[in-house]
Amino acid sequence: MTKNVSMRTLNTLALEAVAEELIHVTAMDQFEKFLPEMSQRPIEILGGGSNVILERTVPGLVLVIALKGRTLCADDGRRAVLRIGAGENWHDLVVWCHHQGLHGLANLALIPGSVGAAPIQNIGAYGVEVADRIRRVHVVDRWTGERTVLSSGDCDFGYRDSLFKRPEGAKWIITQVELELDREAPVEASYPLLSQRLADAELTHDAVLAAVISIRRERLPDPIVTPNVGSFFKNPIVSGHECDVLRQQAPEVPAFPMPGGAFKIPAAWLIDQLGWRGVERRGVKVSEDHALVLVGAGALTAEPWLALAGEIAASVADRFGVNLQLEPRVLGAPAKVG
Ligand SMILES: Cc1cc2nc3c(=O)[nH]c(=O)nc-3n(C[C@H](O)[C@H](O)[C@H](O)COP(=O)(O)OP(=O)(O)OC[C@H]3O[C@@H](n4cnc5c(N)ncnc54)[C@H](O)[C@@H]3O)c2cc1C
Repeated sequence: MTKNVSMRTLNTLALEAVAEELIHVTAMDQFEKFLPEMSQRPIEILGGGSNVILERTVPGLVLVIALKGRTLCADDGRRAVLRIGAGENWHDLVVWCHHQGLHGLANLALIPGSVGAAPIQNIGAYGVEVADRIRRVHVVDRWTGERTVLSSGDCDFGYRDSLFKRPEGAKWIITQVELELDREAPVEASYPLLSQRLADAELTHDAVLAAVISIRRERLPDPIVTPNVGSFFKNPIVSGHECDVLRQQAPEVPAFPMPGGAFKIPAAWLIDQLGWRGVERRGVKVSEDHALVLVGAGALTAEPWLALAGEIAASVADRFGVNLQLEPRVLGAPAKVG
């Protein structure tokens, strides 16, 4: 265990944050060793740091989950079940599965971060969510060290949501994820951007993987070069009635039907209408290419990121009556003044 550790290189916003204590967890027995002695002190979990906003100090213990391993648990020639260590890199896994002829993940290529974080917000892109492929999730209780295995149903996945984001699921540390992949899975290319890109191509898994990678490289900033966490806000889900009210104010608003009569509204559209693209404040900028993405322009602390996000959300609430929610999670405590 190391103390007062800089996490600058452990988060894609490159924020100057200090962990009171930090451990890289590479083996399961580390949980038995460290968790009991932590008793009820705060414990925060970190994967690749691509969906967090770190405050100046993160009190207690930060566990960086670096558990590796790819195990083939079952294979009937058509479907295969893989058990993957939470610390494996997500994109590397997608590409590796593709080369094994195991399909279902191509649309989720190039999403930064770890396998263990994928179920937390049920990562999704280009018409696919990881929940479609998750069979079970292996977890350990961060307070007691108790291990258990949750079914996909237990995880209660929703749009950018799962049990793990709610108070009743916050105790679980994900150690392994079981994915069910399919050698004969149909190609999924119905998402508009993807279908346009593939309009003249033969629809194969190879073509989808290559198209997703090239679209993402064109549209999204590389966090290694430009600090960002991808989408800064979730796309709001509104009821049918709320959607009608919104359409009265903004008849041209795009609205995508969801199960249960709700509608998903693209947050980027709302933000764009209010002219935020390209606006820069105190070292944080709304991307010129994508209104949903904030990018770093020198800010080293969480405060300017949260301030600009707050200003954007307030203007959207004011103009459209829609509440935007942050997609990344804020970890730690702001610096004390005085
Ligand atoms: C350029 C860019 C593009 C992106 N595009 C997408 C996209 O298309 N779709 C999408 O859904 N997301 C996207 N993201 C967001 C991000 O990549 C995902 O949310 C990813 O799953 C985060 O993984 P991570 O390992 O970096 O998680 P971290 O940022 O380290 O952690 C995220 C949250 O998960 C918790 N956590 C992490 N690991 C564990 C674990 N093992 N057990 C319990 N809790 C854990 C953390 O405490 C934190 O609350 C993008 C981000 C960037 C920078």
